[in-house]
Amino acid sequence: MPFFSSGSKDSLKKFYDKDPKVLGSGNFAKVYKATVKNDHEVKKPDGTFEKLPKGMLVAIKDIDKAKVEDMNDITREIEVMEQIEPHRAALDVIEERIAGIESTLADAAERRDAALAVVDAELAVDEAHRVELAEAVDPGLLATYEELRARLGGVGAAVLDGRRCMGCHIELPSADAQVIRGAPESDVVTCTECGRILIR
Ligand SMILES: [Zn+2]
Repeated sequence: MPFFSSGSKDSLKKFYDKDPKVLGSGNFAKVYKATVKNDHEVKKPDGTFEKLPKGMLVAIKDIDKAKVEDMNDITREIEVMEQIEPHRAALDVIEERIAGIESTLADAAERRDAALAVVDAELAVDEAHRVELAEAVDPGLLATYEELRARLGGVGAAVLDGRRCMGCHIELPSADAQVIRGAPESDVVTCTECGRILIR
């Protein structure tokens, strides 16, 4: 009994009388027995045609539960079928389902790209804001800051929280902390541990 199926439920009805009794079922497909209604031909992978005469008994595999999670199973099944059941018509049904899954994946990728575009736009605004602020800062201090930022993982300045530098998270010796706190407000002070500019 040849194994094959057809491209859609409509052509199934047109060419075959399907016995409603399920012969076997797997994760995403059921196998039915069917009888050929009208003489017709189906194309085989080697390009030749096979005649299916009226009244011939065939097996139909109906894939009805294909999900994204089934992708690997379906792909593996196609590989197996290509080896043992080289029938073009059976492959057509499955490949049609995969096209549906691929379009679902493409939709998801599109939504992801749209979300990334929003993030990019927000980053561009932040960057413009940073440039604006930098222009208002003393060039010497800015150069120091940029040098520290490049050398210290992108963080050139840190808040001094009590005696703790929030850049390196080390608690400064009390004497150092006292000197830093006592310095005039206009002085630029740095962490004695990591060298970052401290924000008092
Ligand atoms: Zn530090």
